[in-house]
Amino acid sequence: MNTANGTNSANSVNALWHNHAHMPTMPGREHRIVRGAGAYVYDDAGRELLDVPAGLWFANVGHGRAEIADAVHRQLSELATYPVFGDFCNPRAEELADRIAGLVPVEDAKVFFTSGGSEALEAAVKLVRRYWQLTGEPARQTVITREGGYHGLHGFGTSIVGVPAFREGFGALLPGALTVPAMDLAALEAAILAHGPDRIAAFLCEPVIAGGAGVVPPADGYLTGAQELCREHGIVFMLDEVVTGFGRAGSMFAAERYGLRPDIMLLAKGLTSGYLPLGAAVAGGRVAEAFWAPGSPHVFQHGLTYSGHASACAAALANLDILEREDLVGRVRSREGRLLEALLPLREHPLVADVRGGTGLMAAVALRGHDVAEEVAHAVVNEGMLMRVTGGDALQISPPFVIGDEDIDRIPVAISAALSRVSGRRSRAAAP
Ligand code: PMP
Repeated sequence: MNTANGTNSANSVNALWHNHAHMPTMPGREHRIVRGAGAYVYDDAGRELLDVPAGLWFANVGHGRAEIADAVHRQLSELATYPVFGDFCNPRAEELADRIAGLVPVEDAKVFFTSGGSEALEAAVKLVRRYWQLTGEPARQTVITREGGYHGLHGFGTSIVGVPAFREGFGALLPGALTVPAMDLAALEAAILAHGPDRIAAFLCEPVIAGGAGVVPPADGYLTGAQELCREHGIVFMLDEVVTGFGRAGSMFAAERYGLRPDIMLLAKGLTSGYLPLGAAVAGGRVAEAFWAPGSPHVFQHGLTYSGHASACAAALANLDILEREDLVGRVRSREGRLLEALLPLREHPLVADVRGGTGLMAAVALRGHDVAEEVAHAVVNEGMLMRVTGGDALQISPPFVIGDEDIDRIPVAISAALSRVSGRRSRAAAP
């Protein structure tokens, strides 16, 4: 209870609302992480834990990089930020936009900064719908996404998310969302034709499905096939590289690996490796052209106080310096086989439903049900590892790019030990 002097009289340490968490049962369950170094984090009990999920898929260059902290400190001391709003901007945002434009496989890319991936999606959807209004096809409003797809949970994000539990219980959602099966080109084409191509604004997908379905690499030919269908029907092709961007999938962008040239790309997470919040909607070609061509009268009426936050951009620039100087993307590519091979034998365990991966440092060990996955994720802490459940029933294996080979090999050993403990507990509980 807040008292007149503003203090919390009942309990001063219990106000933090955890995302996606049941709060009444939280007291005592909090796992506080207090420090990080390289591929490890440390909790408030002093345990050293291998950060197997890299936070939420973001700690790509590893924790505790003084170089990034120094760059941010320099920027904060000089100017925390100045808005990229109207005529105003700041040099770090300009520098980073040009750097991103030079990296992405997007034609003549223009960069609209946000504070994270969800905001990048909202900006991109508004941009693409506005584009169709300006180019004489205002009926093109629908955005097609896929079952298991996840693109953030703001207004439009919640309306299109491919995980029903994230969509339900909020009343009316935004119209203009169409979900199709994840890897079925025929179903995508049928949906386009049934809905009417002239009503479809964009198709949006993750190259490798990440959290929504627990790491599902694309079926052969699916992504190029989807890109072709988009071209054929004039549909804007949007690629969500919030997770895969900046090396996670074994190339700077998964688009390169799969031979894609999206019209719009969404970025966040690996852009700063999580040192500060930053995202971007990157648009190229005809979409950007509508607003950037000399003589265009059009303004994209969208804005965020912290778009292009100078200190976040400074963190991103230092992060990209490290990524390139240490060739961490090459490192990811050279370790993906080792990670998958190490994990595959886990398929033999009766509590393991599937092992997926092989694309960069992105893998999942799917277990037989959500409860088993949660139990194993808890048990694995005793093996010196931090893991989280993704896609409902899978352990997310997406370590920092700097992970050592011995630590890659230790992951399945730790999971095996945790599985034995969980199986033992379950069979004792089931015993008469
Ligand atoms: N897209 C994908 C593929 C994601 O995994 C996420 C976050 N997990 C988002 C978008 C949303 O990003 P944010 O949480 O930074 O808003």
